[in-house]
Amino acid sequence: MTDYYEILGVERDATPEQIKKAYRKMARTLHPDVAGAEGEEKFKDVARAYEVLSNREKREQYDMGVDPTAPGGSAGGGYGQGFGFQDIFETFFGGGGQAAGPVPRARRGQDALVRMDIDLVEATFGVKRELQVDTAVVCGTCGGNGCRPGTDVRTCDVCHGRGNVQRVARSFLGQVMTTAPCAACQGFGTVIPEPCAECSGDGRVRSRRTLTVNVPAGVDTGTRIKLSAQGEVGPGGGPAGDLYVEIREKPHDVFVRRGDDLHCTLDVPMTAAALGTVLELATLDGAQEIDLRPGTQPGQIVTLKGLGVGHLHGTGRGDLNVHVEVQVPTALDDEQSELLRRLAVLRDEERPEPRLAAAHPGVFSRLKDKFSGR
Ligand SMILES: [Zn+2]
Ligand SMILES: [Zn+2]
Repeated sequence: MTDYYEILGVERDATPEQIKKAYRKMARTLHPDVAGAEGEEKFKDVARAYEVLSNREKREQYDMGVDPTAPGGSAGGGYGQGFGFQDIFETFFGGGGQAAGPVPRARRGQDALVRMDIDLVEATFGVKRELQVDTAVVCGTCGGNGCRPGTDVRTCDVCHGRGNVQRVARSFLGQVMTTAPCAACQGFGTVIPEPCAECSGDGRVRSRRTLTVNVPAGVDTGTRIKLSAQGEVGPGGGPAGDLYVEIREKPHDVFVRRGDDLHCTLDVPMTAAALGTVLELATLDGAQEIDLRPGTQPGQIVTLKGLGVGHLHGTGRGDLNVHVEVQVPTALDDEQSELLRRLAVLRDEERPEPRLAAAHPGVFSRLKDKFSGR
């Protein structure tokens, strides 16, 4: 069994105070920055010895001939296993993945986001659009490794390729070892002795590229189209990130979009609404006939099935809803006034009874709901 008293250089009847003092002294001299990699190994032993001897229960156990840090054994059972060697090691060395080793030079590039303005016609039917992007591409001179052609990276002299260095910091625990990325190599473990002149060692250069973006039917403001691996390439020749194209749809002069349905308002003269008529309406699909029945009411909606925006997911399209507005004539001449007066007589409407409509949600609020909410 490892002699923890011997490792710390204390007597078997040493007081907790003496043990702590001995440990601090050793931690100072065994610091890897002072003693190198060999010191790190010794420090682990010292830390383990201290872990056992500074804990009353573990020390008792150890004195009875059981090593509480022995792996897999039941020795530590019930004796505060929650604070094992691994814990103390990580406490002293900073823990986490950082201590695991050097950071690879090649890293994935960042994702990028570009905006694209489209109009309603493009959103309805989809469109192919060219897009210019300023982005980073792999440096053609060094192929991404950042070294001048004919040279190569070199192991860092300061951290010897580990990518990090240990430091002693003072804390309430006494001297504490912390790990920090090596400043000489930025944690890579290697340095570039002769950087590539083209990319200054970054392994990538800026470039303007033209991409063709397939904008599918049904996109809307806020829709993001993902172009895999079309973002910037990573430093050190790392893989490219993704490029996201965010759609912004410009409002249309005539048609209002709600989901995949379109709405428009059609002004119809009073006489046409009363008598019925067939109109030609300029839709996104070209001229379409609209059949207005005799007696068409203000606010009535004529639905043209399948003339809305294409569904982004799945097939088919939304509808085009034509809201009828009945125009009441103003500035009537004498003859027109006379005609309408005769009509009023015929329909017994010269002195109409005041008829208040019931307060149910009528055409007006239906329309308002349709346009305000979704
Ligand atoms: Zn280069
Ligand atoms: Zn280094």
